[in-house]
Amino acid sequence: MPKVIMPDEYSFCFGVERALEIAKKYIEKGEYFDTLGEIIHNPHVVADLEKKGIHVVNNPEESKKDKILIRSHGVAPEVVEKIKNLGKEIIDATCPFVKHAHDSARKLVDEGYCLLIVGKKHHPEVIGIQGYARGKGHVVLKEEEVDNINLKGKKVGIVSQTTMLLANVQTVINAVLKQNPKEVRYINTRCSTTERRQNAARELAKMVDVMVIVGGRHSSNTNRLYEISKEYCKRAYLVESYRELRPEWFKHAKVVGVTGGASTPPEDVLKVKETIEKFNTRR
Ligand code: SF4
Repeated sequence: MPKVIMPDEYSFCFGVERALEIAKKYIEKGEYFDTLGEIIHNPHVVADLEKKGIHVVNNPEESKKDKILIRSHGVAPEVVEKIKNLGKEIIDATCPFVKHAHDSARKLVDEGYCLLIVGKKHHPEVIGIQGYARGKGHVVLKEEEVDNINLKGKKVGIVSQTTMLLANVQTVINAVLKQNPKEVRYINTRCSTTERRQNAARELAKMVDVMVIVGGRHSSNTNRLYEISKEYCKRAYLVESYRELRPEWFKHAKVVGVTGGASTPPEDVLKVKETIEKFNTRR
């Protein structure tokens, strides 16, 4: 039987846990709603909510309920308006860290800064931040993208998607400084949860024979944990459930690392741990 090690922090982050808690309170009161997009990128949790009558809608018009939940990623103000205009109640589960990014983007634009948003263009959270910037932000991730914007002599404001790594933000700031702007104002809108988890996965992957990441295949943070683990541990696997585990993956493994993405329920991660602990790895 292999020894299974887990990092101190795994599974739901504060924002996801909070969104699920908000949803639970409404369900307990017998008040039903739809969620605008999946509340978390985890097929089991979404299926479980479906069974309770909580459906995922892709836009507010699709919903037949009188309440709509906004998930932790947040949405642009136009979407909030649209929901209100449909006469529906908003259950706002936007993560407070995301709200800080919204407020910061709006403030920088209002104060006349040319705004750069460090993030992934099509990520729902970035679309929301861009909405609060009234569409005036430039979404950038790479140095070349900054080089294509003329910032010479300008006041430049910078915020980032909450889950951006410090290294990405630093790349953008350095590229901005190269253009000799008049002023650079960076508001730290990063949430350190992601980085702490990635660092923990990296350290764990260095120590173990096999690494298992538990989480939804559509979850970008789960995939990132897998990629990082794979860099340091060749025998790294991503599973959505303990049912996908194969005993042959653990052949001769003495130590196995297990962690879960921010949208993975803790019980799913623990079930994986328990299953691995029962495998006979000597064969
Ligand atoms: S990763 Fe951070 S910002 Fe995103 S939902 Fe979780 S706690 Fe909030």
